[in-house]
Amino acid sequence: MKKEYISIFKSVDFARRKIPLIIQESQEPGPIVWVVAAIHGDEVTGTEIVLRLNRFLNRTPLLKGKVYSLPIMNPTGYEQINRYEPSGSYDLNRCFPGNPKGNTGERIAYKIYSKIVKTKPSLVIDLHTDSMESIPYVYLDQVLDEKDAPMVKTLLDYSELSGINYFVENSETYSEELKDTITGALVNIAKVPSFTLELGGPLVVSNKFVEIGLNSVKNFLSHLDMIQPINPAWQYQYKLNLNPVYETVWNRYTPDYAGIVEYKVRAGDMVKKGDILARIKNLFDNTIQLIKAKEDSLIISYADQSICFPGDELIMTARHSHRAFKFTKIAAPSD
Ligand SMILES: [Zn+2]
Repeated sequence: MKKEYISIFKSVDFARRKIPLIIQESQEPGPIVWVVAAIHGDEVTGTEIVLRLNRFLNRTPLLKGKVYSLPIMNPTGYEQINRYEPSGSYDLNRCFPGNPKGNTGERIAYKIYSKIVKTKPSLVIDLHTDSMESIPYVYLDQVLDEKDAPMVKTLLDYSELSGINYFVENSETYSEELKDTITGALVNIAKVPSFTLELGGPLVVSNKFVEIGLNSVKNFLSHLDMIQPINPAWQYQYKLNLNPVYETVWNRYTPDYAGIVEYKVRAGDMVKKGDILARIKNLFDNTIQLIKAKEDSLIISYADQSICFPGDELIMTARHSHRAFKFTKIAAPSD
């Protein structure tokens, strides 16, 4: 195991701010895989997965190839338990592929992106968290260029291997900024297979989701013959049978009034159109608004909040999709 750093900037006290990089290398040439975490500084479970993965690879070295890992891509946010890079509240995962002459967020993104792309990776896995009440899932970016149809197949094959459910970013609500995630840029600009794993909630490391993420990553490494075969591949015991592909739906369940939220469903529930998903009430326990399912769907997650304000996005769902990848031009953001 080798330890290096990607230096990001020199701070006002001249302290060098840097991103730790861990490299596992076999003598045998083979695939290059990156496992990266905590681009959102409060999403700490991914960091633990990276550390546990490296502990595993120290005990049972790679059979071939290389695994590069970044346990904390947003160290300044991480220290402050902050999703954003604090100097300018940058969401680093909207700054890719980055720009060496851009704002601080874009400069950090550029350092990460160029380091990854230079190694010509076979696969990049970006570890995130959703909310405390969420199912584990693979989140696939839209593939924007019709010429990249083979990429769609590669991404779907990896998703099947993950052992957890997977969802495709909704092509109708796809907005320009989603292209600027690390995985969006890797898939669509660098043409590197890449996806996000969403594993539980932020702030506190969840052992359950560490196990899930680690097992999923091992499935990929086993598939690439980089570690001893895992046969049969690991599968999450509560994986849902979703056929064929489900796409995410968001910005559908937003209250019109401020109030106290009482959720009536759990992540992983299948709901029918008209089912009550949440009740918004006031301080006297009077119902102000019922949030009802607008279509048959699966509950992926709900927001970590008990108080809501008008327009807050409370519930993320997924629905069956006949055209999850539709190779459309990016729609102009309308809202
Ligand atoms: Zn995230």
